[in-house]
Amino acid sequence: MFEIDQAKCVNVGDCITACPVAAIVLKQDKAFIVAEDCTDCAACEPVCDAKAVQRVH
Ligand code: SF4
Repeated sequence: MFEIDQAKCVNVGDCITACPVAAIVLKQDKAFIVAEDCTDCAACEPVCDAKAVQRVH
């Protein structure tokens, strides 16, 4: 499972574009992964230059 570190997110949106199932949403200019929708594909992790996407378990 992946999470986005809110302290690192700079609202570029690359993860949102990369996610094939639209599991990432913007809330107050920060990206969030909707856990119920995430398929754990890892596509969002390498595209984040800020390294805000982290595997949590
Ligand atoms: S791991 Fe895959 S499905 Fe989950 S949020 Fe990232 S790109 Fe979307």
